[in-house]
Formats: sequence, C-alpha cells, structure tokens
Amino acid sequence: MSQVFDLVGLGLGPFNLSVAALATGLRSLSTLFLEKNPRFQWHEELMFPEADMQTTYLKDLVTPVDPTNPHSFLNYLVAHGRFYSFLNTNRQVITRREFQHYCRWVSEQLHNAVFGSEVRDVAFHRGLFQIRYGNDRVASARSLCIGTGHVPYIPPGAKDALGPDCFHAKSPELRRLDLRDKRVVVIGGGQTGAEIFKHAIDSYWGPCRSLTLVSRRMTLEALDDSAFVNDYFTPSYTRNFFGLDPTVKSSVIERQKLAGDGITSAYLQQLYKALYLRTIEGNPMKAELLCGRELTHLQRLGSEFRIDLGNKLRSTAEEIRADVVILATGFRSMLPRCLGALESSMQLDDGQRIQISENYRVAWSHDPAARIYAVNFGRHSHGIAEPQISLMAWRSARILNDLLEEEHFRGVRAEPAFIHH
Ligand SMILES: Cc1cc2nc3c(=O)[nH]c(=O)nc-3n(C[C@H](O)[C@H](O)[C@H](O)COP(=O)(O)OP(=O)(O)OC[C@H]3O[C@@H](n4cnc5c(N)ncnc54)[C@H](O)[C@@H]3O)c2cc1C
Repeated sequence: MSQVFDLVGLGLGPFNLSVAALATGLRSLSTLFLEKNPRFQWHEELMFPEADMQTTYLKDLVTPVDPTNPHSFLNYLVAHGRFYSFLNTNRQVITRREFQHYCRWVSEQLHNAVFGSEVRDVAFHRGLFQIRYGNDRVASARSLCIGTGHVPYIPPGAKDALGPDCFHAKSPELRRLDLRDKRVVVIGGGQTGAEIFKHAIDSYWGPCRSLTLVSRRMTLEALDDSAFVNDYFTPSYTRNFFGLDPTVKSSVIERQKLAGDGITSAYLQQLYKALYLRTIEGNPMKAELLCGRELTHLQRLGSEFRIDLGNKLRSTAEEIRADVVILATGFRSMLPRCLGALESSMQLDDGQRIQISENYRVAWSHDPAARIYAVNFGRHSHGIAEPQISLMAWRSARILNDLLEEEHFRGVRAEPAFIHH
C-alpha cells in the first residue's frame, strides 16, 4: 500500500502555505500539500507593480507563532541580502509583489509542497481520504485541510454579459487590456475597484475616452486600521467572537465591515491627488465616481453594454453605456468541486454554510477520527479576521496542535485583548 499521509492540503495559497511551512518542522507528521498552479502565485492578475499589502510584514507565514522558524520574512530578507536596505525603506507593509516573492521562496524549500497538481476529487473509504490529483495520481490521508480560497463573485444581473469585454477583475483579461478610446466602467468601490480606476486614470492600459466607477457605498471608504479596530485581528478577540451566539455574529460582522474591507488611506490620498491634478489643465478623458448606486442589470447590446443602476438616495433608475466593463465585485466562499462527494456529509448552519469548530474542523457526519480542516471558510463563525492574513499563522498553529493533540506551538496562547463582547 502507498504511503498514508497524516494530512493532505488542498490548494497552496498563503493560508495553506503557512500550514505547510509550520508542518515541515514536525517530524511526527507526514504531510502533502497540492496546488494546481505550476508555482506559487498570489492573485497574479491583480499584481499591480506598486500595490501594497494591507498587513504588516511581521504577520508572515510563521513568525507570530514560531519566530525562530527558517520560513520567516526576516530570514527571507537575510537570505536575499536585503535586510539593511529593507529597513532603510522604513515601511510597515510590503508590496504584494514582494509578499508573493517571499511566499514563492518558502514554497520552493518545502518538501511537502507539490505544484502543478490539481485535486480532481476526494473520496472517503475505510477511514481514509483518497485524493485523486494531477494525471490520475492518488494520495491517501487520515485528514484534510481545505485551502482552495474564494472564487470571484459575479452579481446575478451581470452573468449573461460576461465575455472578453466584460469580466471579473481577477481574470487574465485584465493583463491584456487595451482601453484606448474606450468608455470604461468599473463596478465596485473597494480596494480592487479603486486600484483599477487609478491605473485607468494613469492610462496604464492606454488612454480611455471615459472612465466611470460605480459603487454601492456613499463614497470611497477608508480601511479602518486604528488601534482598537485592529484589536479585532487578535487571537483573543477571535476566541471571544467565536463564543457569541450565531444569531448576533452576522450583525457584528456587518458593523465591522470597514475593518477588513476598505481602501487604505494612503491609496485614497493618491487617487484623490490624481483626480485633482487632472483638473488643473483639463483632461479630455472624463472620469467620474457614481456612488450610492446599485447595479441592477448589465446587458450586451451589439458592440456596447447597457448598465442599469439604482440610485439609492434618489430612488431613481439610471442607465449608462460602456465598451468595457470590469467587475471589481469581490469574492465569495465556495467549496471546490473536487469535494462534491463529501459535501453532503458536511453539516451546514441555517445560512447553508459549513459548520467549523473553534479549531477549524469541519463538522461532518462520518468518522470523527478523520478530520477535515478548512482555512478561509469560517468568516461567519470566526469573524472578520478569517479571510485576512493577520491571523493565518496562528490559525495554522491551532490546526496543527489539534492534529497533534498537544500544544506544540505555544504561541497560540492568546495575549490579552482590550475589546470584549
Ligand atoms: C488582490 C488581493 C489582495 C489582498 N491583499 C490582502 C492583504 O494585503 N492583507 C490581507 O490580510 N488580506 C489580503 N487579501 C485577502 C486574502 O489574504 C487573500 O485572498 C488570500 O489569498 C487568501 O488565501 P487563501 O490561501 O485562502 O486563498 P488563495 O490565495 O486564493 O489560494 C487558494 C489556492 O488554491 C488553489 N486551488 C483551488 N482549487 C484547487 C484544486 N482543486 N486543486 C489544487 N489547488 C487548488 C488555487 O490555485 C490557489 O492557489 C487580498 C485579496 C486579494 C484578492
């Protein structure tokens, strides 16, 4: 019989990469992590050259729970001879490109990370998971860790219009755009929408004829990263939140929206300045922000698109036309197709979301000794830090401690938080 792994990870984005990096130091655990891409990639489609992260570099794959781990960002800097010059740049956050480079460097050192290996299906048979991947290879595992990320969200009214000139921002189309002399509409006023709007103003894809950003929000809103709001991104707050009644969790999450889903103040400042500078000598490209509008319908009419909007403040219907529509409409959580055979055994809550324990175990009706962990699937249960990088290393350590049934990573012990609900 071929090797049976203690844990097989599905997907190698940053979250499972963190689990994989911490697991390599554990001799008693055999692990394998499978990724469909040929090498580590982090939202490559949206990798604008200067784009900064929203999270400090110290919250890397391992440091928060294991600061002497060789896969830390500081070790990456030393290994690449950039430690002193990095410090001289005097930054708290790094570019997304540098974060990807760091993660790729880590992934290349891990014996348990296998790329170019799409997981095709997973079955459960006689107490073991059978994972079919790549060109009909099969791995057996006692436990799984689902880390397949979120999928682009397409608003229902836009589905029929999708094509080469109307696409979600996380699409290959964004990298081969030619917007010269086009009427361009960006739907969505979060960080991604703002970045696309700013790059279009700067003629990154060639000078467009007109540029419109549509947002449900009343203005472009800043990410709130003030001290007490940042307390939401601590282990002890997450534990505290987990203990809340499920019926109140969703309203708390809604009220905390701008803690995790806003535009950085620095970027807003750059964007405002870019708009202002255009007004000095005038600019033939019309650029406008339509805020407080909801997309109601999007339709292709011959060579153009008709975009129907609901003006939320005036309670009126509006219509605009475009040659290119870019949907910066975010992402949503969805189990990957390869888990189809197991899905019906997973327990769902009232909102049809998988139930996840405090230690990130999915509740399922089969053998409890066979564990399914899930990362980035528990915003509804664990709170707004779940889809963020801030607590990824801490979550990875909790998962591995749970699997080992001992407190190997002592860094998971919660420091006191100041906010209590
Ligand atoms: C542009 C952008 C910037 C962001 N910046 C920040 C930030 O600065 N700070 C922050 O806290 N959060 C940020 N986020 C949010 C969050 O950190 C990221 O979305 C992060 O990538 C989530 O990691 P993940 O590992 O869950 O998913 P992903 O990064 O999406 O990785 C999932 C991986 O699974 C693979 N996969 C899927 N299905 C299969 C399969 N069947 N077989 C094998 N492999 C599979 C995919 O190819 C992918 O590589 C950002 C999000 C975006 C979109």
